[in-house]
Amino acid sequence: MIFDKKGLIRFRKDLHKFPELGFMEKRTKSKICKILYKLNIEVHEGLGILGILKSGNSKKMIAIRADIDALPITETTNFNYQSKNSGVMHACGHDGHTAMLVGAADILASKQSFDGTVVFIFQPNEENGLGAKAMLNEGILSNLPIEEIYAIHNLPGEPLGQLSTREGLICSSESLFEIEIKGQSCHASMPQMGKDAILIASELIQNLQKIVSRKISSNSGIVISVTEFISNGTRNVLAGKVILKGDARARSKEDRIYIEKFIRQISNGVALANDVSITVNFKTEFIETLNAKKPTEAIIKLAERVGLKVIPNINPMSFSEDFAYLSNRFPGCLFLLGNGEKEPYCKPLHSSDYDFNDDLLEIGSKFWVSLVEDRLPQKKNL
Ligand SMILES: [Zn+2]
Ligand SMILES: [Zn+2]
Repeated sequence: MIFDKKGLIRFRKDLHKFPELGFMEKRTKSKICKILYKLNIEVHEGLGILGILKSGNSKKMIAIRADIDALPITETTNFNYQSKNSGVMHACGHDGHTAMLVGAADILASKQSFDGTVVFIFQPNEENGLGAKAMLNEGILSNLPIEEIYAIHNLPGEPLGQLSTREGLICSSESLFEIEIKGQSCHASMPQMGKDAILIASELIQNLQKIVSRKISSNSGIVISVTEFISNGTRNVLAGKVILKGDARARSKEDRIYIEKFIRQISNGVALANDVSITVNFKTEFIETLNAKKPTEAIIKLAERVGLKVIPNINPMSFSEDFAYLSNRFPGCLFLLGNGEKEPYCKPLHSSDYDFNDDLLEIGSKFWVSLVEDRLPQKKNL
């Protein structure tokens, strides 16, 4: 084995010190590859990394995944392993997810306790919802006969190592929209001569907030937020153009389709009422993450067996997960592990003072190992 407990912590801290944004994870990837090669694991390096470890003769194959990218956030902790890449930070714990998976690969390669194949997926660019799709499009991953796929995300503020998950929807989808209102600019003292795009955009925003509750039930879990309002108006010039940008979360594909339909319908109505042109661009970045029945039941049973505290039916998360594209391709389960309740481990994901709890590394690695041993047949003659 390459790592003892302290060695794995050092590996995590090193990743934390040199975080890299999505699709730029060059150093991170080279660190991972180096270890996989040392462990004699078959390595396929593309945008991400696939490590394939085969043991025995069984044809059964499962995949376990970690995300490896960081966020465009300036770290405000004072740790001695604080980010050295200014403006970039591991504020979502992907450094820890990566270290847990590397730790599991280390143990499994030396134990060879299973009969079958385990695929280690080190996925780039999770934060923008682009990495999983990109890896699938590369071809190697999507053509593997993977029977089950699993992923961990840490959950700050929850008891250390507490496992929570649910069958069915676990994370919402995220769609981004951009609405352009083309009115007519004019002298601010004579607004009747123009078509005030700011006033029209305000009317539109009010109407968008009627979608949840008046068009779709408020129980749907849908969230629609206008997050940017950009106009070309200036002092004494009425705006002729406004761009609105926003974010919509949904818990089903049907709801996502409804949201788009209503945004377009309302925009067309407002355009007609004000005699202006309004164009809508609606793009889904993350689809809903769905956990399949069999892998989810397996995770819950195993967690109980190895003595983790388990919440088997947690409320769906409002955040989105790129794992959605992987569990859309292969039956899978995303589960959450508590990062600890005390400072700094209770700081929210994506905050500038977040930190992954190193005490979770061993728990996570060992759970990965137990999962592989549980889901693949046991090797004979052990
Ligand atoms: Zn994140
Ligand atoms: Zn994350």
